Parts: sequence; structure tokens; C-alpha cells
Amino acid sequence: MDVPYKIYLSEDQMPRAWYNLRADMKNKPAPLLNPATGKPMTKQELCGVFCEELVEQELNDSTPYYSIPQAIRDFYRMYRPSPLVRAYCLEEKLQTPAHIYYKYEGNNSSGSHKLNSAIAQAYYAKAQGLKGVTTETGAGQWGTALSMACSYLGLDCQVYMVKVSYEQKPFRREIMRTFGASVTPSPSDTTQVGRAILEANPDTTGSLGCAISEAVEAALSQPGYRYVLGSVLNQVLLHQSVIGLEAKTALDLYRIKPDLIIGCAGGGSNLGGLIAPFMGEKLRGESDCRFIAVEPASCPSLTRGVFAYDFADTGRVCPLARMYTLGSGFIPAPNHAGGLRYHGMSPILSQLYHDGYLEARAVEQRAVFQAAEYFARVEGILPAPESAHAIRAAIDEALVCRQTGEAKNILFGLTGTGYFDMVAYQRFHDGEMTDSVPSDEELAASLASLPRL
Ligand SMILES: *Cc1c(COP(=O)(O)O)cnc(C)c1O
Repeated sequence: MDVPYKIYLSEDQMPRAWYNLRADMKNKPAPLLNPATGKPMTKQELCGVFCEELVEQELNDSTPYYSIPQAIRDFYRMYRPSPLVRAYCLEEKLQTPAHIYYKYEGNNSSGSHKLNSAIAQAYYAKAQGLKGVTTETGAGQWGTALSMACSYLGLDCQVYMVKVSYEQKPFRREIMRTFGASVTPSPSDTTQVGRAILEANPDTTGSLGCAISEAVEAALSQPGYRYVLGSVLNQVLLHQSVIGLEAKTALDLYRIKPDLIIGCAGGGSNLGGLIAPFMGEKLRGESDCRFIAVEPASCPSLTRGVFAYDFADTGRVCPLARMYTLGSGFIPAPNHAGGLRYHGMSPILSQLYHDGYLEARAVEQRAVFQAAEYFARVEGILPAPESAHAIRAAIDEALVCRQTGEAKNILFGLTGTGYFDMVAYQRFHDGEMTDSVPSDEELAASLASLPRL
């Protein structure tokens, strides 16, 4: 059976339920802890910050499938299924016997996979009768996705955007405003935690951890609002399983078994979603597929961090999560342009990595942009810099296959479009991009701030 360039699914082949990978994990991800008491966060405590149904999903380690509400499936139909592409041109150019596939999530106006969870989180907020939601955004993709989902459902959306991105990416901001969201550069003087961070560090360009603190405070101080987060949390990986489920259905149509699945890892949501059903098979002893998380050398949470309880945010208002972390005060060097700048990692992926089911590697940003440009020229898609981390590793693995002659099936996640990152591409083309790798001393300093339990 010849595999087409793009394998699309019909509407009735699309997933009707999300898959909860935790149900098949022997070692469950560790519970979130209340930073004040050191005890696991109760449902009631979490419901002060998050929507109720999402709290249920967050805490549920045993239910393998959650049926996707019809309203969410209707929204998914507007931009899903996303294409699964056989990268024939890339294979040819690399002269590799490997078969390379990628799942492209950049074909919606928000430009990335984040819409898959944004619509789910907005739906449950609406169903609970809330007025609106608050959130943070780093590079802007999550804020954009959430503002699209909120405008569709008629919810207010307040976004705290990391200041350096707010300034460097004015177009991102305008898309969010087009969808009716209000956007505040973070740290700001609109919250107590923002004012404290500004006082301690007036020139800070902001960080995700800091914007999270502000968004949580904003949710807690307005009745009818809850906070939503675009990555890291178990519920987000649950929603993102739609990526992997679609990919698996498409590959199964052609009886293709992936040998290697690769994804970029910021907070871990796209990778966790892409690998979910395949990792489930591995955990159940049904496959020996390999999985690789690719992270920037300038923010190497898995490859150089420690597995410990840490704060999810800089302001230390969020619950503690046990994860691979660089310390909640860690901020990547300002010349880092490739996204994926969160100090921690999804507790699910952290546990899988710790237990040896997932591999990780760090790549430097010039090599990432070289891969991005190469891919754009060969496959005709301008990738997001984040996605290009996965491209880098996929190309490297395909080149290994050229050496060994193995015809491996490689699947990688192409998480988004690069249209909003042309300033980064410009710096790359002008030769102004440098690699920045934190020193051991820098990492030790930020790890010194880990909470002692
Ligand atoms: C946010 C984002 C990522 C990284 O987030 P994860 O939660 O690790 O998936 C990767 N690619 C794109 C395009 C993104 O917008």
C-alpha cells in the first residue's frame, strides 16, 4: 500500500475520547502539593484556582478515556484533523532509508497545537457559568489560542504576556485583541506579585513563571474568574492526546508502526499528547518504540535539571509540582529566541523520563534554526522555532539511519507555524544569533532556590 503525502482522517475517524496516559503508568506522577502545608492539594483547594471539571481531570490517574464533549468535537472539526505528512522530500534530500512522518498542528489561526486544550478549558469554564479566565503567555501562542476559544464561547479572556515577547511580537498581541482578549505586559503594576517582582528587579524582561503568578492573582481577586494554563498540567496533556490519537489512527490505516517518536518539550504538552497512545502501548508491553524529548540547550530542564518538588511560578503562589526543574527563578539568556523557556516540565513526562521510558536531548539554537531553514526549503512549511527542535533531532536520527542503513519509521511533532517568529529568523539570517548555554554555576544558583520539604 503506497502511503500518500498526507494522510487525512474522515470526520467519523476522529477521536471521540481523550486518552489519559496516567491510567497505564505504574509509577503515577507525584501529586501537587500545597506550598503552605506541604500536603497534597485537595480538590477543594484546587477548585479555588481552576474550573471544577478540569480539577477532576487533573487529579484522575485511573480513568483511561474521557469522552470529548460534542461542543468541543464541533470546534475541533473546524481545524482538525491535522494532516499527518510523509516527508518524502526530506527523505530524498537526506538520502536516508528512514521513513519520516510529521503531524502538523500549525494549520489554525492561532498557529499551534495549543488550541486543542484552549477550547477544552474554555468549554469547562463556560459550562461552570464563569465570566472569564486569566492566563499567562510566553511567546504568545497560548494566549492567542485561548482568546480564540474564549471569543467562540463568549468568555472574557485576560492575558499576561511576558514583557520581552509583548515588545518583540506586537502582531501576536494584535491577534489576541482581534479575538477580544485584553493583554497586559508582565511583570506589571496591576498585581501585588508583579509590583514586588518589579521592585526587586526593575529591568526584568519577564518570564513565564512570573506571568503565571500574576495571572493566578488576577483570577483569585475577581469573582467569576478562574486561571487556566496552556501546558505542564496533567489535564493539558489529556486534551493534547487528540494529536497522538489522530496520528495513531492514520498510521494504523497503513499498518505503520513508529520506531521513534520525537517532539520538542517546553512544558511537555505537545510531546505528551503526541506520544500518549504509543507510550500507552509501550507501558503495557505491546511495543518497544523509542521516544525523544528535545529541549533548548539554553533551558535544559530534563537534561540538566533535577527531579524534585518545585514551584510552578516565580512568585511562588502556585502549588508545588514534582518535576524536572532548573529552579523557579531560572530565566534563559535574553538572546534565546526559540521558545520552550519554562523552567520545569510536565510531571507525567518527568516521571516517564525518570523511569527510563523517555529519552531527552538538548540542542543549541543555531543548529535549530539551520534545521528550520533546511526544512522550510525542502518541505515548504515555515516551522515555529519550537517545532524546529524536533526537526533537528528528526534530521539527526534520519542521518544515523543513512549510516546504519536502517529503514526506521520516525514520527515527529511539527507543532506550529513560524510566521510570528520572523524577528528570530532575521537574527539568524543576519548572523546575530548566538548559542547560549548556562554554566554549571548559574544552574546551581537557581537550583539553590528549590523549596526544602
Ligand atoms: C507552546 C509551544 C510549544 C511548547 O509547549 P509544550 O507544552 O512543550 O508543547 C511547542 N511548539 C509550539 C509551536 C508552541 O506554541
